[in-house]
Amino acid sequence: MNPDISNKARETSAESNNSLDALAAALFRPMGVDGVYARTPLYEEVIDRLTAFISRHRESGTEILRFPPVMSRHQLEKSGYLKSFPNLLACVCALHGTEAEIRTAADRHEAGGDWTTSLAPADLVLSPAACYPIYPLAAARGAVPTGGLRFDVACDCFRREPSKHLDRLQSFRMREYVCIGSPQEVLDFRERWMKRAQHLADDLELSYRVDTASDPFFGRTGQVMAISQLQASLKFELLVPVRSAEQPTACMSFNYHQDHFGTTWGLRNAAGDVSHTGCVAFGMDRLAVALFAKHGLELRKWPAAARNALALG
Ligand code: ATP
Ligand code: ZN
Ligand code: MG
Repeated sequence: MNPDISNKARETSAESNNSLDALAAALFRPMGVDGVYARTPLYEEVIDRLTAFISRHRESGTEILRFPPVMSRHQLEKSGYLKSFPNLLACVCALHGTEAEIRTAADRHEAGGDWTTSLAPADLVLSPAACYPIYPLAAARGAVPTGGLRFDVACDCFRREPSKHLDRLQSFRMREYVCIGSPQEVLDFRERWMKRAQHLADDLELSYRVDTASDPFFGRTGQVMAISQLQASLKFELLVPVRSAEQPTACMSFNYHQDHFGTTWGLRNAAGDVSHTGCVAFGMDRLAVALFAKHGLELRKWPAAARNALALG
């Protein structure tokens, strides 16, 4: 490799990291853990406006549901999450047992010992994505109607991937539009959203490119899963150069699950055909950080199109 080029690349990313550090001071407050931050009103204003902007583009006939930051452990296990991303998952643990057992564990802490050795897993996990709970919920309603189903879901997500980078948080917000229907309905939905998402990014005056992608499947067998996902074009991402052009940040993803959730949860149409599913995910925190990185900290100086899209007056 030409040393000049690699030095330049390093300088560029060092520079942009410095400017991201300056952003962090205005947007976040530390909470003692990498990737977990308190958010300032300036930052939340953009999150709220982005949320409204995405809502304005919701397709008609879409049912809205908001999920808490935790979900059923059983449902996530059944969804196959542990096969793909066991490294990212966090499980809720609590002190179970009799009053005496719980008191003993808590007292151990007061005496300078370790109370956590008494923790036992609860029936909850921290949701790693917004769409997992919707499939069992829809399946419980019976046959998927002709024309399919569309949902608008969101939740605070957790992934155990601590990082100092502002675009990789452990606790972040995800908004998704989900489609359940025939393979063609789901593929059409994803196609429409891939086009629409690029208009959204244009309106926000973000630089981006859309590319096929693979999920960061765990371990060596994960590499095989990633290759077949790429080959089948099951995942696309809208990538924005937030930290650097060489390592752009996925701010949205467009996912086709084929019959994975349909088979898992028994989603079928009236004729008994297994439904397919797909989702478009918006990384709300990544989009907000991308907007501040591109347009700066003074909202009144943001370009007209972005101000208009976000109803900044
Ligand atoms: P990456 O490859 O960057 O880890 P991903 O493939 O894991 O992303 P998805 O599983 O598709 O991401 O999640 C949907 C969206 O949620 C992403 O496009 C991104 O905008 C957002 N997202 C995912 N992980 C994080 C994170 N650690 N911090 C902030 N946002 C995230
Ligand atoms: Zn999803
Ligand atoms: Mg990831």
